[in-house]
Amino acid sequence: MKHRLNQKGKIIVLIFLTTILCFLVGWGTISKEKTGSQQTAKIPSKPAEPLLLSFKPKKAFADSELDQSVQYQKELALEKTQHQKALEQLEKDHKNKVIYLTFDDGPSPAANQLLDILDHYHAKATFFMLGPNIQDHPSVVKRMVKEGFGVGLHSITHDPHKIYSANEAPLKEMSEDQRILQKVTGVRSQLVRLPYGSIPYLSMDMRMLLDQKGFKIWDWTVDSKDWELKNQRFVQKTIRDIQNMERAGQAPIVLMHDKPETIRYLPKLLTYLKHKGYKTKILTNQMPPYTFQCEGRCHSPFIAS
Ligand code: ZN
Repeated sequence: MKHRLNQKGKIIVLIFLTTILCFLVGWGTISKEKTGSQQTAKIPSKPAEPLLLSFKPKKAFADSELDQSVQYQKELALEKTQHQKALEQLEKDHKNKVIYLTFDDGPSPAANQLLDILDHYHAKATFFMLGPNIQDHPSVVKRMVKEGFGVGLHSITHDPHKIYSANEAPLKEMSEDQRILQKVTGVRSQLVRLPYGSIPYLSMDMRMLLDQKGFKIWDWTVDSKDWELKNQRFVQKTIRDIQNMERAGQAPIVLMHDKPETIRYLPKLLTYLKHKGYKTKILTNQMPPYTFQCEGRCHSPFIAS
């Protein structure tokens, strides 16, 4: 059915069309001006996101932020308790004049010589070893176990771009290292030392996964800096730090490396320890691990986003 517009109707339609026309012309001008001013002044133009749009529902409760934060709080509490237990252990050990020597990155081709020196001084130590090195020198690793040295894990690649590249990556590397060590020695070690220490690259998520699988993350209280200091200067530095720990009332956990220069000057350090009446002990699966606390500092820049 056709309708004829009366005079009033025609006026309304005319006003309507004129309004639309004005609106379109005006909008075009404003848009051009806006673009122009943005180009010159470079003002960030991101509008505030409406509340409802910013809320993205999660696909499952297990992934939800609430769940993550509960887990996170649990992990923080666990970390704190564990740290306290570790400190108590180190204070007790201090009273018994105990020191923990640790060697990372081995076994090197000179590892037998390192064991000979330790044996000569009746000293014990713990070795945090790389999977491929264990495979290259299985006999010296067997000797470590036979003679009562501590054995632990130090990853497969030692490459921060790989071991900190995903939340599961440290767990994967340490599990593989554990499998290799167990195959060679029959010992299932839960002791891990992260390459470059657990701070700053080992994120809370990575820690949680290692904890859940029973790995014990061991850092140190004395860094010998034997990877940096030339000749025997690392020995003097280590002795100074050991004296500081003596004053602090905690048994020292000394970080060193299984490498020729360290081995060459190690007798100087062992002579000092013997002279001062220190007893060297190994780290075990049963001990509360001394781990650096994250306190919001842990983050891996190597995770691809
Ligand atoms: Zn290392």
